[in-house]
Amino acid sequence: MDAHGRVAGRPNKHHHRSSSSSAFFSKAAENLEAAVAGTMWRWWPVLRGCATTRRALLTVGVAAALLAAAVIVLNAGEGGPNGMPDSLFFPADAQGVEDIPPWNLTAAHLLDGLLTPEFSHRSCRSRYEFAHYYKKSPHKPSPYLIAKLRKQEALQRRCGPGTAAHEKALRRLESSGGDDDLDGNDGDDCRYLVYISYRGLSNRMLAIASAFLYAVLTDRVLLVDGGKDVADLFCEPFPGATWLLPPPSSAGGWWWSSWWSPSSSSSPLNRLQSFDQDSKESLGNMLQSGATVSDETGNVTWSSEEKNTPPAYVYLHLAGGYGYHDKLFFCGAHQRLLLRDVPWLLMRTDNYIVPGLFLIPTFRAELEAMFPDKDAVFYLLGRYLFHPSNAVWHAVTAYHRAHLAGAADRVVGVQIRVFHKKQPRQLVLDQALSCLRNEKLIIPAETETINIAGNATSSPSSSSKKKKNKVVVLVTSLSSWYSERMREELGSEVRQPSHEGRQRWRDAAHDRRALSEMLLLGTCDALVTSGFSTFGYVAQGLAGLRPWVMHRSPMWAHDWREDGLGPDEPPCRRVASVEPCFHSPSAYDCDAGRDVELDGAAPYVRRCVDVSWGIKLVNQSSSSSQ
Ligand code: GDP
Repeated sequence: MDAHGRVAGRPNKHHHRSSSSSAFFSKAAENLEAAVAGTMWRWWPVLRGCATTRRALLTVGVAAALLAAAVIVLNAGEGGPNGMPDSLFFPADAQGVEDIPPWNLTAAHLLDGLLTPEFSHRSCRSRYEFAHYYKKSPHKPSPYLIAKLRKQEALQRRCGPGTAAHEKALRRLESSGGDDDLDGNDGDDCRYLVYISYRGLSNRMLAIASAFLYAVLTDRVLLVDGGKDVADLFCEPFPGATWLLPPPSSAGGWWWSSWWSPSSSSSPLNRLQSFDQDSKESLGNMLQSGATVSDETGNVTWSSEEKNTPPAYVYLHLAGGYGYHDKLFFCGAHQRLLLRDVPWLLMRTDNYIVPGLFLIPTFRAELEAMFPDKDAVFYLLGRYLFHPSNAVWHAVTAYHRAHLAGAADRVVGVQIRVFHKKQPRQLVLDQALSCLRNEKLIIPAETETINIAGNATSSPSSSSKKKKNKVVVLVTSLSSWYSERMREELGSEVRQPSHEGRQRWRDAAHDRRALSEMLLLGTCDALVTSGFSTFGYVAQGLAGLRPWVMHRSPMWAHDWREDGLGPDEPPCRRVASVEPCFHSPSAYDCDAGRDVELDGAAPYVRRCVDVSWGIKLVNQSSSSSQ
């Protein structure tokens, strides 16, 4: 979702610290005045004797220092006493940690073969420490998936940025078929999938996981156009290779390449953000513009005007709201006959398109072999791809140790996301509280039993018999209002790492907080999430938990009650699987030549609880229990 989610925060959000901070300010003012005065007397002798100017300068200096101190104090208090200040995002001193892979790694550290031990501990601490903070899951990666991942890693090393093959592919792309020397197939079979950065962080994470799976299925190198952000947030997932698309200045190889080779400045890689549904290079528009031809059986190929050869690149527009022709991406024939041999595919999506890939006959057998547990695709791919950077991991683990680990017998995560400005926040609060109470997630009775198993605990019998003792509620939201009210309402402790006020774009610190909170939710024992929100999907997927989801209308709905949440509706429902929902699937069955009902289109595809027109993967055995 691209909602901005502006929710008014409480105006007096910093009132708890007013007395201590005023003491801090006056002491700081005295010290600063002394320091500033001392420094100025030493370095600015001309001021001696000019008492008025000196006083004025001192006043300005002290005022500036006070302002700076205020900013530091207010920021440091992000989220109140249990907040996540900026200082937490500095990686801990890595001294004493050897810059080699740890020697005593177990299968648990490597997530049962999902990861290889080729990275040093210092370069990416989360890679080997993840298993310590997250629950063990019954979902192990299949040997076939592991083999495919190792093959993909080798491909990324052989064809990725910095290799001769990549340089050559770039030059081919820039010359777009004009340079005969570069046209022929001389044995390099490197083909690329470029993911175009789009929407909020969790939309991007779901889209990257989808793009990665498509790259694996089609033997393409995945390159992520994530800007600085992705490098700040995540470690590289592929050993000995980068998944980051080189920045535009070097996309042609070197900064001066656009000078000696004018074509490189027009490389599509230098204008990725300009591609949209109107681009003539989109699959949908090429299908309509004579670039392709269909025979009488409906099979489609590149037209003879195009010498029956694929273009140098095709743009795949798979963003929510995309049209009929762009949706033909999900046809097996288009995959086999059109897209397979295109050297560069540029993909824009804000969606988790994985369930749609399972519905393409060309890929189905391969996907079924890779994922015997259909409801563990994002769980496995997410844990394979998204290793938080040292800075983010430091904040997550420090917060976890200080506020969650050992603080309670059970931590219940509540993710509050509101898309519709007019939805009254008291109703959102009531909904969350009713959900927590109705589902017996917070009742403090010592003897009650509760099923918090989701899909992620090792032994269902022990989890279902677990005694409810002390519960901590971890709230994530852009606003602090909900956690403040919950603290008043619930006997339990309520924590909230940050309250950013509103969604921000291209703000690295903001994204680091968002990622940290998704990761912290992922460590919880049970989750309540907001429907429609990909933020909740990432948290549930990384956790391996089936959350209780609260209904939400999308921001474009006329009424926040639209499509659900009537008076008889329960405040939340348990979702059928930990898999994210694909919000914009194509209902068109290419072989049948008509739209079909997607619910049950494969034994493991079901409609989503939170988005009635969306679909998700479920475990076959649980597919009837929506
Ligand atoms: P969605 O809009 O809920 O599907 O999730 P996205 O992650 O794609 O976009 C929402 C963005 O808003 C996030 O990436 C954050 O930048 C911000 N955001 C929303 N909810 C929260 C929250 O609870 N905590 C933090 N730190 N940021 C949030």
